[in-house]
Amino acid sequence: MTAVDDARALLATLTDAPAVGVWSAPGRANLIGEHTDYNEGFVLPFAIAQRTAAAVALRDDDVIRVRSTFADDAVEVSLAELDARIAAGGLDWAGYPLGVAWALRAEVPDAVTRGVDIALASAVPVGAGLSSSAAIEGAVASALNDVWGTGLDKVALARVGRTAENDAVGAPTGIMDQMASMLGVTDAATFLDCRTLQTRPVPLGFAETGLEILVVDTLVEHAHASGGYRERRASCEKGAAAFDVRALRDLTVDDLPRAREILDDVTFRRVRHIVTENQRVLDTVAALDLAGPSAIGDLLTASHASMRDDFEISVPELDLAVETTLAAGALGARMTGGGFGGAAIALIPAELVPAATDAVYAAFAASGFRTPNVFTVTPSEGARRDA
Ligand code: ADP
Ligand code: MG
Repeated sequence: MTAVDDARALLATLTDAPAVGVWSAPGRANLIGEHTDYNEGFVLPFAIAQRTAAAVALRDDDVIRVRSTFADDAVEVSLAELDARIAAGGLDWAGYPLGVAWALRAEVPDAVTRGVDIALASAVPVGAGLSSSAAIEGAVASALNDVWGTGLDKVALARVGRTAENDAVGAPTGIMDQMASMLGVTDAATFLDCRTLQTRPVPLGFAETGLEILVVDTLVEHAHASGGYRERRASCEKGAAAFDVRALRDLTVDDLPRAREILDDVTFRRVRHIVTENQRVLDTVAALDLAGPSAIGDLLTASHASMRDDFEISVPELDLAVETTLAAGALGARMTGGGFGGAAIALIPAELVPAATDAVYAAFAASGFRTPNVFTVTPSEGARRDA
């Protein structure tokens, strides 16, 4: 059963009314470009095959009721009370779909919104760095945009998802995840300029070249994630202020010698990660366009070294995942996501996946680390209407 079938089946347990449609949106993996988003730089994520689906039925009243396979109970709110319920908080998982409804109404104030039942099912692993949050936001935003006739384009719906996550759920995230989930193209990555929000699909050619992206989810919880994230953001702002620029996006590698002179060592290394990472994203896009995916391995591995040594957001489990997959024949590997835990990705010939997977399990066992989840992800289509 796919997420679409599951969402439909769940809706049937909620209401006798027929589904007016089913919409879905995928999770994402970030190929390269880490912590560059809030520095107004570049990222290169791709949508994955695992999706979250939203099946919708109309109601005769003005209640919006959401139900997920993740939770036993439905949550319902009247549209008249939605603003107050969002402001009050405490909605837990329902804050994502209800937050999207709230943000969409705020974005299109004259829309004629009406009561709906929304049933959600997902194949995106939660908290594995694959953005199940963007998937649920994208599915619900796409669904309500059609059902309520709000007529927003995909970029505007990505913004609605971010508003929901930032202001309704209260998670301070950039817009990369939502853009990747909304705009994904099969066998391509989405090159995103986080300052202008301009995007371009960049063909990856993994299928033709026989390459796969192997994910090693270390299952290490992001213990220092929020404190570490705040600290890294503060260092980046300090670096930008020292150069009197709006964001580190405005610096290039030519500015690094001066950065070393005027910044303290820690701030300098934080800045060097961002500046070189932006350049690596641009180099990766150029290499993909000119030479194809076998040419990007060293850039991925350099990105990991920069996060480990300069940005200092890796952990031993992530380093081990990178080292082990490289030793098993990966062309490149890096931690992905915010850091302090989460997942690593490796670009690897398809025929080496089984041996690399075994090598990762063996290395983690030998180090006394928890058994990781190891699986492949495939660059896939973004948000869509399925039925
Ligand atoms: P991730 O890295 O997976 O995006 P987040 O913490 O950002 O991790 O988002 C995960 C949260 O999103 C879950 O804890 C849950 O509240 C919500 N969520 C994601 N998918 C679903 C779903 N299908 N049903 C209900 N809630 C979901
Ligand atoms: Mg998330």
